[in-house]
Amino acid sequence: MPSNLATFPARLPSIDTLLQHPASQSLIDRYGRDAVLATLRQLLDDLREPTRLGQLDAAELAIPVLAGRAGERLASQHRSQVRRVFNLTGTVLHTNLGRALLPEEAIEAVQMAARYPLNLEFDLATGKRGDRDDLIEGLIRELTGAEAVTVVNNNAAAVLLALNSLGARKEGIISRGELIEIGGAFRIPDIMARAGVKLHEVGTTNRTHARDYEAAIGPRSGLLMRVHCSNYSIQGFTTQVPTAALAQLAHQHGLPLLEDLGSGSLLDLTRWGLPAEPTVRQALADGADIVTFSGDKLLGGPQAGIIVGRKELIARIKKNPLKRALRVDKMTLAALEAVLGLYRNPDLLAERLPSLRLLTRPQSEIIAQAERLAPVLAQQLGQQWQVMAVPALSMIGSGSQPVARLPSAALCLRPQVSRRLRGRCLQGLEQTLRMLPIPVLGRIDDDALWLDVRQLDDEPGWLAQLPTLQWTEVSG
Ligand SMILES: *Cc1c(COP(=O)(O)O)cnc(C)c1O
Repeated sequence: MPSNLATFPARLPSIDTLLQHPASQSLIDRYGRDAVLATLRQLLDDLREPTRLGQLDAAELAIPVLAGRAGERLASQHRSQVRRVFNLTGTVLHTNLGRALLPEEAIEAVQMAARYPLNLEFDLATGKRGDRDDLIEGLIRELTGAEAVTVVNNNAAAVLLALNSLGARKEGIISRGELIEIGGAFRIPDIMARAGVKLHEVGTTNRTHARDYEAAIGPRSGLLMRVHCSNYSIQGFTTQVPTAALAQLAHQHGLPLLEDLGSGSLLDLTRWGLPAEPTVRQALADGADIVTFSGDKLLGGPQAGIIVGRKELIARIKKNPLKRALRVDKMTLAALEAVLGLYRNPDLLAERLPSLRLLTRPQSEIIAQAERLAPVLAQQLGQQWQVMAVPALSMIGSGSQPVARLPSAALCLRPQVSRRLRGRCLQGLEQTLRMLPIPVLGRIDDDALWLDVRQLDDEPGWLAQLPTLQWTEVSG
C-alpha cells in the first residue's frame, strides 16, 4: 500500500466520480440510472460519519469497492419477495407455504393462460359470450355426479357466497359441534353473520340429534348447514346426524342442506392407504343440496372454492352479485381443469398428482433418502451437531385429518452442547437454514431440529446449496 495512506485521512469520492466509473455503468445498465443514483447517494450518506471519524481506510473507500457495495444493495432490493423454499416441516399441505403443488399438466395450462388470449368467457361453438364456469362444469359434474357447478376464489368464499345466496335474512340451523374455526380467522359464526344468515345453533358440542334440528325448524328457517370437522375430532360420547337423515329432514320442510366439506375429496383416499375423507360424490348422493370444498387441499390443485349441487340453487348462487367479486381468474381455471383431468384416470393419479404422490410415498423410500443425506449434512455442519436419519411422522395439513399421521423419516439435528447453549444452537441453525439461497424450513421439537424429507423431491438442488451452509460454532 502507498505510504501516504497512513498520513492522509481517507476521503469519500464525489457522487459524480462514483457515477461515472465503469463499475457504476454496468449497474446502470441493469437497474436503471435513478435506482443506481439513489443507492450511491444513500451509501455515501451512510459512510460520511464513519469516514469523518477516520474509521475507514482508503481501500474501503476505493470506487470499485463502493460500486460493489451499491451492487449488493441493489441486488437485495431487487430480489423477488416471492421465494421458493424447501418444505421439510413434515406438513404436506402447508397453508403458509402454498398448499398443493401443481402437476406439470397444470403448470403448462397456467403458462398457456398467462401467455395467450383464451376462450375464458367466449363460446367457440356459437361465437357468443360464454360463462367461465362452463370450462370446468362438465368435468366436475362427471367427477362428482353434481347437477351444476360454480367456482370461486377459495372455499371460504364458496361458503360465504352459498350462505348469502340461499339464506340471507333467514336462519341457518347448525349443530353446536360444527361451529368451527379454520386457521386464518375463518369462523363459521362470523361467516354466517357476514353472509346475513342468522345463526340458529342446536344440540351440544358432542351430541346433536335429529330432534334438535327438527325443533329448530320454523317459518324463519332458510337452510340447514353441516360443516365437516376437518381440523379437530370429537371422540367419546358423541352423536351426529348422518348427512342422509339431515337431508331428508331438510327436504321434508322444503329447506336446502348446505354441506361444507372443507378439504373434501373426489375419490376414496383409502385406496391409497390414506385416512378416509368424505367424498363430494357421497355427500351429494346422501342428499346434500349444495356442497363446497377447496381446490388446493386434498384435491391437489390451485387455490379455489368449488360449489356443486342442485341446478336451481347453483343458478341462484351465480346470480348473486358477490359471485362477480369472488370469481376465479383464468390461470386458476386453466390449472383446475388440468388437475381435474388427471382424476379421470385414478390408476395413474398417485404418480401424476404431486400432493398425492407426496402423501403416499413409501416410508422405506423416505428412510433411504434420509440415510443418504445424513452423512453429507453431518460433514457440512461439523462437530457441534449430531445428524441422524430417524423415522418420523408427517401430517397432511390444511386442517385435513388433524389426528392422522403418515409414517415418514427425518434428519434429526441435535446440538452437542451443554443444555444452556442448546436453545441458541437450535435457533441459530433454524435461522441459518432459513437464510440459504433456497430457504430450508424444518421444525424444532424435543431439543432437536427436524427436517422431514418426505417432500424433498429436488434432492440435487438441496445438495447443491449445501456448501453455502456455514455453521459458526456457538460457545459461551
Ligand atoms: C379449509 C376449510 C375452509 C376454508 O377453505 P379455504 O380454501 O382455505 O378458503 C372452510 N371450511 C372447512 C371445513 C375447511 O376445512
